[in-house]
Amino acid sequence: MALAYLGLGSNLGDREANLRAARVMIISGCAGGLVRESVVEETEPVDYLDQPRFLNQTVLLMTDRAPIELLDEAKRIEAALGRDYAIRRGPRTIDIDILLYDDRVMDTERLTIPHPEITRRPFVMKQLIEIAPDLVDPRTGKLYREVYAHGGNRDHQRL
Ligand code: ADP
Ligand code: MG
Repeated sequence: MALAYLGLGSNLGDREANLRAARVMIISGCAGGLVRESVVEETEPVDYLDQPRFLNQTVLLMTDRAPIELLDEAKRIEAALGRDYAIRRGPRTIDIDILLYDDRVMDTERLTIPHPEITRRPFVMKQLIEIAPDLVDPRTGKLYREVYAHGGNRDHQRL
């Protein structure tokens, strides 16, 4: 069993319901269970600014699935919930990102773990710290709560 931290986001339709549906589908599709859930937070869009505010949540999943299988499942759930990929970083019913997978570090064409957005977005680190106060960035060995306290790393390379 592995522990994976997933970032959920929605800014179209019934955002609460989209997050709820995603959680249910993650549990049934990823052969595991949700161990922890952060609070749901409303956040301003970044990068592509002309779109509604998001609801974001981070969940901790215990799973048998490999990272690439989790990504495939995330894409299936996004499609099932009607996500439209027309605008990169644009409005979406649901976005499911793999933030962390155990202490794995990987850089492949389809998958970068830890997700580069963690240290670019303070609210992501805040939600991770809420779920796991002593969580460490597997790339740097630094505690996320210390990176968060120092304002994150806004220069981090984007996907
Ligand atoms: P966004 O960057 O806004 O989340 P998408 O959800 O469309 O955009 O993701 C774009 C691509 O990012 C995916 O097709 C996937 O291959 C890639 N990707 C790389 N690393 C990750 C990760 N850790 N979690 C999710 N997607 C990832
Ligand atoms: Mg995504």
